[in-house]
Amino acid sequence: MLTLKKDIIIAIDGYSSCGKSTLAKSLAGILKYTYIDSGAMYRAVTLYGLRNNYVRTGFVDTDKMIQNISNVKIEFRLNEETLRNELWLNGENVEDEIRGMEVANNVSPVSTIAEVRKRMVFLQQEMGKNKSIVMDGRDIGTVVFPEAELKFFVTADVDVRAQRRYKEFKEKNIPITIEEIKENIGQRDHIDATRKESPLRRAEDAVILDNSNLSREGQLEWAINYIKEHFSS
Ligand code: C5P
Repeated sequence: MLTLKKDIIIAIDGYSSCGKSTLAKSLAGILKYTYIDSGAMYRAVTLYGLRNNYVRTGFVDTDKMIQNISNVKIEFRLNEETLRNELWLNGENVEDEIRGMEVANNVSPVSTIAEVRKRMVFLQQEMGKNKSIVMDGRDIGTVVFPEAELKFFVTADVDVRAQRRYKEFKEKNIPITIEEIKENIGQRDHIDATRKESPLRRAEDAVILDNSNLSREGQLEWAINYIKEHFSS
């Protein structure tokens, strides 16, 4: 276990599928911090929209999403077996469903809605009140916790990212092509970085981590060394 001089907030932002959550989960485990996957929250809102027909491919009924956002109850519950936080939407475990391509293909347009973001940011800030948290997403260092003591901005070559995601889908026996994954990553990055409301960008005080040529272990080691150097007691 790594002990820090004081409890801090670690904000990890970056492009789609570049290993943010892998890094965030590992750091949270080592520091005994809470890990919050903010992307899972936007995915859950999107699933809610899909199920209620407010969202269909290429279409979002923004008014309906806004009217119903207070009916979307999001909770993270600990899975006692895997010791991982899983996302529950209105009392149902949707951890697997939110990772599928239907949600992935629709989440970025839903995430452009200001009222959706306002609600998610409020919930995220509540979760970070007591610090000792690692949160990953797109606007964590810029909007959710601009005062976070440590911010990483993660990036990687798009082909490397697509390959990694492809491997994950393969392991779960989900049929998909590299091209489909690349297209989804490209579209999400574009929408996320160009939207009006809290676009994806590096906070000025965020440390850039390009992990194109790093393994999971290499990336973790790099981050731990950075933390030891700056925050360790
Ligand atoms: O991190 P993940 O890939 O699961 O995020 C899914 C989508 O949710 C992103 O592509 C983005 O559109 C949205 N998102 C966001 N702000 C965050 C986290 C995720 O807009 N803080």
